[in-house]
Amino acid sequence: MDSTKRTAIITGAARGIGREIAVSFYKNGYNVVMNYAGNDEAAGETIRLCKETGGEGRIISVKGDVSKEDTAKSLVDAAMDEFGSIDVVVNNAGITKDTLMAMMKTDDFDRVIDVNLRGAFLLTKMAARPMMKKRYGRIINISSVVGVHGNAGQVNYAASKAGLIGMTKSIAKELAGRNITANAVAPGMIATDMTDAMSDNAKEQIKNSIPAGRLGTPEDIANAALFLADEKSGYITGQVLLVDGGMGM
Ligand code: NAP
Repeated sequence: MDSTKRTAIITGAARGIGREIAVSFYKNGYNVVMNYAGNDEAAGETIRLCKETGGEGRIISVKGDVSKEDTAKSLVDAAMDEFGSIDVVVNNAGITKDTLMAMMKTDDFDRVIDVNLRGAFLLTKMAARPMMKKRYGRIINISSVVGVHGNAGQVNYAASKAGLIGMTKSIAKELAGRNITANAVAPGMIATDMTDAMSDNAKEQIKNSIPAGRLGTPEDIANAALFLADEKSGYITGQVLLVDGGMGM
């Protein structure tokens, strides 16, 4: 057991934003418990990239669907067994199943809510117990600008991401007295597999609407998560930090 370092659980960390969050936290000395859905090869690559940073913590991975209670339990058990504490939870795992509402299947609505919102609830609820006992914690939920502003073709996704914001603020109120903060990061358009599926034309149009003049990088989001996870950020809670190059102004 290694209880000398801070420990962070990061969901959906095999690829994209979650991977970069895992690498940044590891580099900054955290022990990392990473989760992913099924891509073993990508998960292995995240572990390799973490170790390459020379960080002095340890990293373990837990495969599993965040919408299942068992996965939340496995993540919390793994963190407590291996590292003896949970200091940070980053609820990052997320999916899209985009189409206009008229065509949206109820199953696709439910699935996006299950992964993006229920998943964050299950893990936060379970991780909050040891955090409350320790009287320390940082909960970071990866929402989206779409949760703030809405987006045609993303009724399910926008609902899940707006739900995360309401959940974050409620958790912040419930746990502030225990020295546990809860904040949401709302990324704009970030270059990952999730956005890669868009046509170059659509990407160019979005880029032109971003005051910063570029898409965001996973590192832009990881930097925000690191900041909110810091011990010195203890008086920031219930906030939504838009990391979007000014897109949502
Ligand atoms: P991504 O590249 O598609 O990666 C998603 C990660 O989540 C993968 O590691 C995947 O695991 C994992 N995952 C998917 N479903 C899961 C489940 N049911 N249980 C556990 N893990 C699961 O996505 P991304 O672009 O990095 O997005 C990360 C987060 O940022 C999401 O919440 C997304 O909504 C949010 N976000 C992204 C953008 C953007 O522009 N990219 C903008 C705003 C918000 P496998 O690798 O095993 O499949």
